[in-house]
Amino acid sequence: FAKQNGRSQYAFYFDELKTDSKRILLLESELRKAIQQKAFVIHYQPKVSLNTQQIIGVEALVRWTNDKLGVVSPAEFIPYAEDTGLIIPLSEVILEKVCIDMVDWRSKGIQDLPVSINIAALHFQQDDFMERINAIIMKYNCSPYQLELELTERTVMQDSETVVTKLIKLKRMGFKISIDDFGTGYSSLSYLNRFPLNYLKVDSSFIQQMTDLQDKQAIVEAIILMAHRLQIKVIAEGAETKDQVKLLKEMGCDIIQGYYFSKPIPSTELLDFLELWEIHKQERNL
Ligand code: C2E
Ligand code: MG
Ligand code: MG
Ligand code: MG
Repeated sequence: FAKQNGRSQYAFYFDELKTDSKRILLLESELRKAIQQKAFVIHYQPKVSLNTQQIIGVEALVRWTNDKLGVVSPAEFIPYAEDTGLIIPLSEVILEKVCIDMVDWRSKGIQDLPVSINIAALHFQQDDFMERINAIIMKYNCSPYQLELELTERTVMQDSETVVTKLIKLKRMGFKISIDDFGTGYSSLSYLNRFPLNYLKVDSSFIQQMTDLQDKQAIVEAIILMAHRLQIKVIAEGAETKDQVKLLKEMGCDIIQGYYFSKPIPSTELLDFLELWEIHKQERNL
C-alpha cells in the first residue's frame, strides 16, 4: 500500500510539474504577445479621505485576460515580468493606457484626478527611467502633477544614495511619491526622512489583522504617528469592514483604499462611481 501510495503521489507531482512548466512557457509567449498588442485593461481603485470624505485619487491596477490562460492575476504575471525584464515594456504599455484614460476623463469633465501607478524596481533602476516615462506623459499631453509613483520599500532601500537623488528629481518634475506595502519590507525607519515622500501605504496584512491582534494595531498606530511627524500622509490598504474603517479613523489615518468602499473598477464604471459618490457622500458620515 505504501509503495503504491508513494508511486501515485509521485505521478501526481510529476503531472503538476508538467502542467506548471507548460503554463510558464505559455505565460512567457502569451505575455510577449500581449505586450505587443497592448492587450491589457486598467482598473482603478478609489482612495477615500477620512477627513473630507472625498475621493482624493485612484490607483491604477493592470488586468489581463488571455484566450488560452484565462484571467491571469497580476500577482502571477507581474513577478514573472520582473524576472524576465518584460516588466519594462509592460509598464510602458500600462502608463500609456493610464494616460489615454486621463485624457478621456478630462473630456468628460473629470479634471486632475490623481492616479497612482505601481513602479517595479527593475523599471525604476533604469538610467533613462525619468526620460522614458516623461516622454509617454508628454505624448498624451498629461502632467506629472496628476501622477503618483508607488515604490516598495525594497526598491528604495537598494542603493539609497542614487534613489534619493532620483526621487528628488521626480518630485521636482511634479510626481508624488508613495511607499507601497509598507511594513512588509526591511525598511530602516531612519531612511524615511531622507526620502521626499508624500504617502505611506500600510500593507493590507496589518489592516486586516488589526481588529483581532493587538500588536498589529499597535504597529499601525505607530506608523501613523511616525508618518505624521515626518509630514507624510498614511493610506490604509485593503480595508474591508466598517470596524476597520472606524478604528483607522480613530487612529488618525488619512486615507483608505479597500473593498469597503470599492474594488478596482474599469474606467467607465469609475465615472459613474464618482458621480454617485458626490450625491451620497453626505449620508455616508464616515
Ligand atoms: P498593490 O500595489 O499593493 O495593490 C493592491 C492590491 O490589493 C490589488 O491587487 C487590489 O486589488 C487589492 N485590494 C485592494 N483592496 C483590497 C481589499 O479590501 N481586500 C483585498 N483582499 N484586496 C484588496 P491586484 O490588483 O491583484 O494587484 C496585486 C499586486 O500586483 C499589486 O499590489 C502590485 O504589486 C502588482 N500590480 C498590479 N497592477 C500593477 C501594475 O500596473 N504595475 C505593476 N508594476 N505592478 C502591478
Ligand atoms: Mg500599489
Ligand atoms: Mg500595496
Ligand atoms: Mg501588494
